[in-house]
Amino acid sequence: MKNLLELIETPSEVLMGKIAVYPGSFDPITFGHLDIVERGLECFNGVILAIAADIPKDALFTVHERVEMAKAALSNMPDVVVESFRGLLVNYVAKTKATVILRGLRATSDFEYEFHMASTNKNLNQNVETLFMMASKDYFFVSSRTIKEVASLGGSVTGLVPDCVERKLEERFEMLRKKKRG
Ligand code: ADP
Repeated sequence: MKNLLELIETPSEVLMGKIAVYPGSFDPITFGHLDIVERGLECFNGVILAIAADIPKDALFTVHERVEMAKAALSNMPDVVVESFRGLLVNYVAKTKATVILRGLRATSDFEYEFHMASTNKNLNQNVETLFMMASKDYFFVSSRTIKEVASLGGSVTGLVPDCVERKLEERFEMLRKKKRG
């Protein structure tokens, strides 16, 4: 049985439809994201968690930090590869030889943005399909943005993000508080 990295290097016809790319900012990764990865693995042989390097400057974590946290959180899943990418998502997907973009849908508020993105990506590359998984009942309210808001105000995010992310959030906000105090 080949591992995921070997599969990625296999000719595209062998791979068609077997690997999904799960893209996002992951600033930081949450249990909501991990839930989509786990459920994605029920449908695909492998998942590439693709972390967008080109995100707005107000990201809390650098792309390197986001990759490191995701790698730590997914270290027990051998069929998942974590990578960062720059530029157009469809170009990155084509390079990996995957044909599916996996996304999570939380509420109707996600729908419009996701619908636009999926349509735009389809227009850019007809061979790439976007598939959505509904957020599960335990995590539908979890977003990286609210996790950061809660953590910045000293609230607990236990049970919503992996331990390594929780520690990193504490460290980062402590550092930012110290910096503010001067
Ligand atoms: P964005 O690409 O908008 O920066 P994120 O990196 O936060 O979004 O998330 C990547 C993908 O994961 C998106 O499809 C988003 O809808 C989905 N997602 C985020 N949080 C959850 C969650 N709690 N449950 C299910 N899907 C989620």
